[in-house]
Amino acid sequence: MSVVKRPEGKANWYLPGILTGMMITIKHMIFNLTHRKQMITIQYPEERYPYSDRFKGNHILTVKKDGSLRCTACMLCATYCPAECISITAAEHDDPSVEKYPISYEIDILRCVFCGLCEEACPVDAIRMGPEHQTAAIAGENFIYDINKLAYRSGLKGGVQSKVDDEERHSRGL
Ligand code: SF4
Ligand code: SF4
Repeated sequence: MSVVKRPEGKANWYLPGILTGMMITIKHMIFNLTHRKQMITIQYPEERYPYSDRFKGNHILTVKKDGSLRCTACMLCATYCPAECISITAAEHDDPSVEKYPISYEIDILRCVFCGLCEEACPVDAIRMGPEHQTAAIAGENFIYDINKLAYRSGLKGGVQSKVDDEERHSRGL
């Protein structure tokens, strides 16, 4: 093993670098304090960054016109999910024109990689990736998003309507 010894008298050679760094920091701090409108940082959470419409954030289960879930429990999203974090329990619907519906739909958000494949796989626009990205929680069970959280959380204001309408599909013979 070779050891390189620092030359004598150069023990404090790093001090100029530290002082230069501190001067740059103080210069930026004074600039920001005197030019607040030009600051590139935002005051989160009061201010939010405007994300693109294509941003893939927290999932949304869409609803029909009557407010019920659009999901037909076909399992395509769960089948395509690479993280295997979607669990669905299907049940028969009382209405014979509706084949199935989910009595339970859960996403383990800690395992989700936000790839968007569930959204791509869904044939009836029943699941979307929304603009919200906050997933902070204290207890582990709060990271399992159920139907109430996915479809009817307060931020969705009663639910997001699906673009796929049953009446229109039936009138087109689909
Ligand atoms: S975004 Fe990807 S990983 Fe997350 S639930 Fe959908 S398919 Fe699974
Ligand atoms: S969200 Fe879409 S793909 Fe997933 S089970 Fe429901 S209808 Fe099928």
